Amino acid sequence: MVTDSFIPFNKPCIVGTESGLMEQALQDAYLHGNGRFTKECHTLLEGRIGCLKALLTPSCTAALEMCAILADIHPGDEIIMPSYTFVTTANAFVLRGGVPVFIDIRPDTLNIDEAKIEAAITPRTKAIMCVHYAGVSCHMQPILALAKKHNLLVIEDAAQGVEAFYQSKPLGGIGHLGAMSFHATKNIISGEGGALFVNDQAFIDRAEIVWEKGTNRKTFLLGQVDKYSWVDIGSSYLPSEVTAAFLLAQLRSAKDITKKRLEIWDQYHKAFEPLEVQGHLRRPIVPTDCQHNAHMYYILLQTHEGRNNLMAGLKEKGIQTVTHYVPLHDSVGGVRFGRTHGDLVVTEDLPSRLLRLPLYPDLSDRDIARVTQAVSELS
Ligand SMILES: *Cc1c(COP(=O)(O)O)cnc(C)c1O
Repeated sequence: MVTDSFIPFNKPCIVGTESGLMEQALQDAYLHGNGRFTKECHTLLEGRIGCLKALLTPSCTAALEMCAILADIHPGDEIIMPSYTFVTTANAFVLRGGVPVFIDIRPDTLNIDEAKIEAAITPRTKAIMCVHYAGVSCHMQPILALAKKHNLLVIEDAAQGVEAFYQSKPLGGIGHLGAMSFHATKNIISGEGGALFVNDQAFIDRAEIVWEKGTNRKTFLLGQVDKYSWVDIGSSYLPSEVTAAFLLAQLRSAKDITKKRLEIWDQYHKAFEPLEVQGHLRRPIVPTDCQHNAHMYYILLQTHEGRNNLMAGLKEKGIQTVTHYVPLHDSVGGVRFGRTHGDLVVTEDLPSRLLRLPLYPDLSDRDIARVTQAVSELS
């Protein structure tokens, strides 16, 4: 009897050109940050995102920490954000004494509910955090208008947003600042990695100082000062050239990787239509002005128990699926460091019924058929 092989939830996608570029970095014997591979990644990202300045970071978390510094967050300053997000969306601001103010998400995209933002604004509000869940953009137009009206910053947590667009604009290039992740679980990877995108002239000089550990090393490298010295707060926010070389190979293949992921996403979406019609599950909803990147394929089951049973059933068939974020607002850290505004009814419901299915370029048609058949049988 042929037993079916195990289908993992994720397999990091290696394109094959990484080792050649990393070897070049080794031969250069220039291994610290801001060398030629870093600079090439910056140029490539600035072109694709359309940002004024891109800076590679060791992670999206580090880029979010830089956002909190650039936003000049002081103890007690408030940042409005969804509760349904990754811990570091909030922690980056808490590290500066900021208070995350958690509001509900939209039931269609699971992104921040823009209609609930204005009521949560106080005189202490500094910024609105837009987390583009699953590479599907937040509804940015009203958020940008609201930020303008109340003089707030818009910061994009575009961790999952590579090669995704809102009204043809790349995610991460829309707000004042944007942060992206190249963690091994994302679409484009460098193991651990990230980038900060600066879309407002006012932040460029300071961003480079913060990036260079709070020094004016940039002006030193440009020959404008004899010695570089300490001028502001900052930290060690440069990845090594080996990481940048790996990332450059991945970024060059980003369109192909995204295309392959979208094909798989579309196969799932088509296969699950009958189950949605029969009321067994709900498929992801992508608004027409959003071009997503197939970062994930999730299904929403009828109940929390139904989701857990399906997950267990799939595991028995050798298919690994995963749930997602535990909402922050009633977590230990969320209660200690943040506060909630309004009811979070969608946040308290949908994530408990959500299941993410295997999705990576290596997933074969046969694997996809196994997953869709198993879900059909079990739900
Ligand atoms: C992955 C992720 C992060 C963290 O990214 P790292 O690169 O691991 O620091 C932050 N926010 C969201 C929404 C994410 O999906």
